[in-house]
Amino acid sequence: MRLLLVEDDTMIGESVLDLLRAEHYAVDWVKDGELAETALRAQDYDLVVLDLGLPRRDGLDVLRALRARKQRMPVIVATARDAVAQRIEGLDAGADDYVLKPYDGDELLARIRALLRRAAGRAEPVYEHQGVSINPATREAAVDGRPVVLSAREWAVLEPLIARPGLVLSRPQLEEKLYGWKDEISSNAVEVYIHGLRRKLGSDLIRNVRGVGYCVPRE
Ligand code: CA
Repeated sequence: MRLLLVEDDTMIGESVLDLLRAEHYAVDWVKDGELAETALRAQDYDLVVLDLGLPRRDGLDVLRALRARKQRMPVIVATARDAVAQRIEGLDAGADDYVLKPYDGDELLARIRALLRRAAGRAEPVYEHQGVSINPATREAAVDGRPVVLSAREWAVLEPLIARPGLVLSRPQLEEKLYGWKDEISSNAVEVYIHGLRRKLGSDLIRNVRGVGYCVPRE
């Protein structure tokens, strides 16, 4: 999953970035409202963590512009603990949830998982499909009840596919879920991870749609 982090405080931003990357999310980080706007117009993110107090362009303004463009990705706004009015304004401007600053890392991750599953049209926290079960919170995977260990990159490829069975994602789309702006992309990385996933989870789970990409078929 690819996330945009908008946070102008360098120290806070670095710690949130480390936290999100450790959870296998591909993350782009921008430090002001103008750059956030540019990033949001250029890239289709799965979720945005948006600080509201930003230089150059206010976070609420960025949020309103995003929703005015009919971009529907989940947005979590970050506000100071005592800024109740700002949180309300954020939610009414189209935010889906909020976190309080200073960030509690575990809480932020749980809210991200909740919004990503809602965005995929799911309420249940564990993905179950054709005997394969995937728990994004605990990072546990199993085939017919037998535990399977997946690498962080394999998770990053599998999650967007299994989240929406039937949806075909092209190789470039999967690469976007895997890498942020500054990462090196090797040309066959997606194939390598798909191969690893098929070996561990069975060859039927991820289907190759010729000339288009990959999907987890609907049951
Ligand atoms: Ca700020």
